[in-house]
Amino acid sequence: MKKPIQDFSLHTHTIGFDGRNTPIKMVLHARELGMKSLGISNHFIVHPNIAKSKFYPYAVRGGYSAIYSTSFDEAVKRFKPHFEELKHLSGLCGVKLYRGMEVDFFDYPEWRSGFDRAMKVLKPDYIICASHFVEYDGQLYNVHDMANADEKTRDKMVKMYWDKLGRAAETGMFNWMAHLDLPKKTGCGRDAIWGDTEKRAVESIAQSKTPIEINTGLYRDYCDEPYPSPRILRMAADAHIPVLLSDDAHAAEQMGRNFDRAYELARSCGINKFLTADAAVKSR
Ligand SMILES: [Zn+2]
Ligand SMILES: [Zn+2]
Repeated sequence: MKKPIQDFSLHTHTIGFDGRNTPIKMVLHARELGMKSLGISNHFIVHPNIAKSKFYPYAVRGGYSAIYSTSFDEAVKRFKPHFEELKHLSGLCGVKLYRGMEVDFFDYPEWRSGFDRAMKVLKPDYIICASHFVEYDGQLYNVHDMANADEKTRDKMVKMYWDKLGRAAETGMFNWMAHLDLPKKTGCGRDAIWGDTEKRAVESIAQSKTPIEINTGLYRDYCDEPYPSPRILRMAADAHIPVLLSDDAHAAEQMGRNFDRAYELARSCGINKFLTADAAVKSR
């Protein structure tokens, strides 16, 4: 097996959340790939209205509703035994194992205080910032809802998405930002007219000194690029934002996917600050 260009993977998901494999299987696969460290970063998504959302029944049917919690107590209860398990596996077969989480940021005061309390209990090694939802008109919408909305509403949601990312970075709470232009998963926000909105978010990210990931989980027939797009990668290069490669592996065989291609793309966009695993974990 060819060794990936980056010798670590810190954005991965496991069974019990929405991944397909156990942590131990992920560790063994990381070793097989010649990786020196692995981080497991399951979803930490807490919102009181999450189960009332339009997408929620899909999650129940798909068997991954465990990634959503309506209270911080519920989320902590889920993560505690998971983190215990990871602690026991650390150092196994020479792979350093980090306990991470991919956190959905919501910006209202109760979320922040609940989140801070939960972090005091769980003490993760690192926190990835994600934003899979926008709150519009008192409801939570994901990128599929965004794509299904009428044009005017969709544009409002895309703008809300980017503005929220900027505010998330400004908190300085996160080790790095995940899949920056997530709405493009469903074809939203791809036009060049979004450049200024993206630029404002990228500036907030740069000012807060928060790194970003290049997420290789997207590469599909309909979208032959990672998150974020070359347009945003060039902005990140201009702003000297450090980056790391993430595979967002939901199964062992996805680990390190397309790292070489994403690395080449990043270089061609002018990115030259690539983080080590150690620096990524200490970047908060
Ligand atoms: Zn994600
Ligand atoms: Zn993820």
